[in-house]
Amino acid sequence: MIDKLIQGTAAGGSIRVLAAVTTGVLTEAVRRHETSPTVSAAFGRVLSGTLLLGATFKDLDRLTVRIDAKGPVESIVAETDGSGAVRGYVRNASVELPPSGNGKFNVAGIVGDGTLSVIREAGFEMGLRKDPYVGSVPLVSGEIAEDFAYYLAKSEQIPSAVLLGVLLKNSEPFVAASGGILIQMLPGASEDLISQIETSIQNTPHVTELIAAGAGPEGLLEEALGGLDFDILAESEVAFSCNCSFERAKALVSALGREEVESMLREQGGAVMTCGFCNETYNLDGDDLSAILGELDAER
Ligand SMILES: [Zn+2]
Repeated sequence: MIDKLIQGTAAGGSIRVLAAVTTGVLTEAVRRHETSPTVSAAFGRVLSGTLLLGATFKDLDRLTVRIDAKGPVESIVAETDGSGAVRGYVRNASVELPPSGNGKFNVAGIVGDGTLSVIREAGFEMGLRKDPYVGSVPLVSGEIAEDFAYYLAKSEQIPSAVLLGVLLKNSEPFVAASGGILIQMLPGASEDLISQIETSIQNTPHVTELIAAGAGPEGLLEEALGGLDFDILAESEVAFSCNCSFERAKALVSALGREEVESMLREQGGAVMTCGFCNETYNLDGDDLSAILGELDAER
């Protein structure tokens, strides 16, 4: 099944609803970063939350969600372009803790206290680059979904329900299900409607149970909204995707300057560049470094 995100409205436009299945996104993220099970659970929630949050903004160039944690994972970062591509990394991919009392991944244990920051950039394409919008809130639970909801309520003043889930398995590709739901109350949502949604969400099976049973994003919303009609306004495929390339790796080496490039050529006969976002490795050989030196000379 292809990963997909849908968004729409319900209750006469007074709530905005989004849902995403991100099993493939997380499978690729886990493969690239070799994250431990608990880190995979945390990372998957952040990747899904970032895709859902990014989809709520129009004309987005880039939205970055950054968790700076006092727990052993230290940081989790995800970035989306708003059109379905997401990439990300964690600081300490291999940390692990025993499951918490209820047998669930101890995500709050590896995250701990900290902050959730959202950096939103728009306007590059029209040449109207503006300062990015930055919002930051303390983590309220370290379980990620509650932290996204708190961010939306506090920083964007949008009361929201956020459900994010990851289900793992013991054998490759390790990810059995990943996805999430975001419901935003817009001005005009009545108290009755809000409590109706709260009740239906409480009675909804866990998102990963639904996805593992074959539900797509529409199925997630049907359950979460408890039968309330909704209109789908947009849908997009989502994927873990990075915009790094061999050309960019060369540009980064070149930016280190002539002396550094000369010493790499002399001492290592080449350079190895690894993209932090996707762990892709680019090997520059002696000819590549000589070509970079030639270009640096030509610029002088
Ligand atoms: Zn990359």
